Amino acid sequence: MSKKIIAGNWKQNGSLKTSVKLSKDISYALKKNNFKHEIIIFPPTLYLYPIITNQKHEKLKLGSQNVSSFNNGAYTGEISASMLKDLKMNYCLVGHSERRHILNEEDAVLSDKVSRLYENNLKVIYCIGETLEQYKNKETKTILKNQIRALFKKNKLNIVSKPRNLILAYEPVWAIGTGLIPTDKELTNTFNFIYKTINSLTNNKSSLKILYGGSVTPDNAFMLMKTKHMDGLLIGGASLNAKKFIDICSTI
Ligand code: PEP
Repeated sequence: MSKKIIAGNWKQNGSLKTSVKLSKDISYALKKNNFKHEIIIFPPTLYLYPIITNQKHEKLKLGSQNVSSFNNGAYTGEISASMLKDLKMNYCLVGHSERRHILNEEDAVLSDKVSRLYENNLKVIYCIGETLEQYKNKETKTILKNQIRALFKKNKLNIVSKPRNLILAYEPVWAIGTGLIPTDKELTNTFNFIYKTINSLTNNKSSLKILYGGSVTPDNAFMLMKTKHMDGLLIGGASLNAKKFIDICSTI
């Protein structure tokens, strides 16, 4: 059975002290439990270095929540993919709904970010998902197809040659931080659709992993993971609590 992926997105939360403690608590729990999954945390970028220097984390993979769409140069405030590589990051999130909808990042910029990450051999968790309005208008499949196509338009060669470097995360925007989740039937349908869309774009040559994100808790993780083609979970709120995060890892 292939490895499941459990990823925790801490967003813009915590302090230096709480971030280092949270990562230590998770590392400690991982040492005690023999999980076979790939477990990744995405702390605020500023705290990545202290986290790296304060702990041993062989089992715990680290990722950045963001990356610049440009290579090194005059881009004030940005952090490049080569800097993340320098820091020995394993992963980077791209296309999270908060970056798409609050920070207005569009498909073209997101594709450039993926290109920079591929150039530096970093793995990408690429988020896709429909808004509440689009969900109500029954536009979910159209939105997902457009988001996936836009990504493939620029990065198809990269993706086909290194399929393991890309993981998709289906995160309905209306499910993020709301306590709402799609029904079993909706999830089965949507995951099937994403799976087929990827296969049609890669002539069945690529079997990318697909995660689910949106109001995942220790109580619903097991049921969610029964969905066909669901390879793991991307967790926001519950990943800020070491016990809840580890409980989710334990249930699958
Ligand atoms: C997220 O922001 O990626 C997320 C899934 O958040 P939450 O788990 O809090 O809904």
